[in-house]
Amino acid sequence: MTRDALARRNVHIQSMSCPMCGDTEESVDHLFTGCMVATILWQHVANWGNIQSIFVFSVDNLVRLHLSVEGGSEKRQWIHALVYSAVSCLWNERNAVVLKNKPVYVESILSNTTSYCRFWVKHRGGVVM
Ligand SMILES: [Zn+2]
Repeated sequence: MTRDALARRNVHIQSMSCPMCGDTEESVDHLFTGCMVATILWQHVANWGNIQSIFVFSVDNLVRLHLSVEGGSEKRQWIHALVYSAVSCLWNERNAVVLKNKPVYVESILSNTTSYCRFWVKHRGGVVM
């Protein structure tokens, strides 16, 4: 759970700051869309997916992103897998920063995203939409 969600459940949090950038309070929407780390990640996802720049303001925007991609259902499925891989890798990296006191390493999110996406598509044969 993000820090704002824990605080809403009366869990004592030492810092409400985003562990990735430290600039603002951590929320789901900030972590996955507003954070500078997320912004870098979405730029790379757009390049990898060969789609227009990604401007998202909520997780709901991310979940629906593939629906507006041109190029047919196969391309939409690929983008869907790429976005979910990116979200998963960003969340894993965030947890490593919080739980293991690891420094933020954007390159590892980027490399893990492409590896995870390739693995997912190869072994699932696509994405269930
Ligand atoms: Zn942040």
